[in-house]
Amino acid sequence: MGYNKAKVTRKIGPRRIYQMNYRSTRDPQAQPVTSAAAIIKGLAPDGGLFVSSTFPQPSYDLAPFTTQPYQDIAQQVLTWFFPDLAALPGAVQRAYGAQWDDQQITPLSARHGGNYYLELFHGPTLAFKDVALQALPQLLQLAKVQTGEDSETIILTATSGDTGTAALRGFQNVAGTQVIVFYPRDGISPVQKAQMLGQAGANLHVVAVTGNFDQAQTTVKQLFSDQALAHELAARQQQFSSANSMNVGRLIPQIAYYFAAYGQLLQRQEIQSGDLVNFAVPTGNFGDILAGYYAKKLGLPVGKLICASNANNVLTDFFATGTYDKRREFYVTNSPSMDILVSSNLERLLFDVSDHDADLVAQLMNQLQTTGHYTVPAEVHQRLTTTFAAGYATSMQLQAEIKRVFDADNYLIDPHTAVGSFVARQYQQVTGDQRPCVVLATASPYKFPETVLDAISPAPVSSGLTAIKQLAEFDAAPLTAGVQELFTNLPQSQAEVAPAEMKAIVQQILQG
Ligand SMILES: *Cc1c(COP(=O)(O)O)cnc(C)c1O
Repeated sequence: MGYNKAKVTRKIGPRRIYQMNYRSTRDPQAQPVTSAAAIIKGLAPDGGLFVSSTFPQPSYDLAPFTTQPYQDIAQQVLTWFFPDLAALPGAVQRAYGAQWDDQQITPLSARHGGNYYLELFHGPTLAFKDVALQALPQLLQLAKVQTGEDSETIILTATSGDTGTAALRGFQNVAGTQVIVFYPRDGISPVQKAQMLGQAGANLHVVAVTGNFDQAQTTVKQLFSDQALAHELAARQQQFSSANSMNVGRLIPQIAYYFAAYGQLLQRQEIQSGDLVNFAVPTGNFGDILAGYYAKKLGLPVGKLICASNANNVLTDFFATGTYDKRREFYVTNSPSMDILVSSNLERLLFDVSDHDADLVAQLMNQLQTTGHYTVPAEVHQRLTTTFAAGYATSMQLQAEIKRVFDADNYLIDPHTAVGSFVARQYQQVTGDQRPCVVLATASPYKFPETVLDAISPAPVSSGLTAIKQLAEFDAAPLTAGVQELFTNLPQSQAEVAPAEMKAIVQQILQG
């Protein structure tokens, strides 16, 4: 697969300003665009995703990651991918500032029940999506200044719960932007809903959809490539962009915490420089784990990337067989942010492992849309399995895992993290792989208190804010600012539509 190995002995050179171009995963003849343009557009015009035309091959030393503040690591990673964006340092400082309740931004836990947990939930909305969505608005502003783009950016997004909240929070009152968030009416948790409806801002719009996440996301993708709608917007000096991990401006910041995790392990002398570390990633849209794959391609000593799914285990089957088949029942589970049957970012992985075969990717994606399934060539499948392992946890298995980890040393994990934790353990038991393993802790246990309580509490479980108080009794640590906020924010009004009415409401909102 041609990974470049970490060049652990060479120092970071002086910053070279060079241009990094981005291209669509689907069109072999696609015109490359600048990174600024890729961030502004969000999705390629042909429905594909933007990927860098050449992958950065930086030379660096692993040692500095042990002492560097998170902000410096983030800036380094962003510079590799967006070298032409000026003024990155200021943007990074604003993205990872006082709105985080931990100075390390993504602190790594001690070993609990066998594995480490990389706590990605110390931002304002209590899930890992803040890591990217505190950065994306900053990157977008830089990109607009850079390109002289002065139209209003309309962030249109479908959410399985956490993206919406984090996008609303990230773009709250950001000049020159509006945010329209669609969420599946019955597919998100009470706390997610309270967070989503609790964000006030003249530029924020929240709409419930009477359908599931995939229907909402599919319609959002259609709206993005709706030429008539694009013209309507252009006439009003407006332009769509995406806050989903389909946007490179959201995906790339996520790479930084893999480096930060490795640095923390090194700093504690849990590993030696160059030792391989496995990462178990609770996966939905495949953005988080793809960032890990990119970290590995950048030379970070990553062993296996363990792709953990819930009962919606399309990806588990895909990695096992090479066939992606979404023709199956959709389950609403107790890890709702992973209730996804079409994982958008897999497209970027396929593009990469097929040696940039845009024709193949276009064909597979087209097949997925028309028939609901595709099979990758055997060689592509073979390459995938050298890097990825995959498994899934049922709702009951993840609850048992929450209890196991809590019983080990009173450490609380959320249901999504528990999926990662369960699958990591299963992988270790089946393969005997003893390498250190970092489970990405993608949400705070307080974001899904009902499920966590149900796993550990003998008492009957309440819901929403009451459940948060009930859960706090099991936790030695005080409630963080982000959790306390839930008790004071007032719900804003919202609309509710069927998937078929999504376009009309977008038009209505944007006509002001
Ligand atoms: C979004 C989300 C995931 C899935 O991440 P992807 O990047 O979509 O794969 C997992 N856990 C939580 C808590 C999330 O919010």
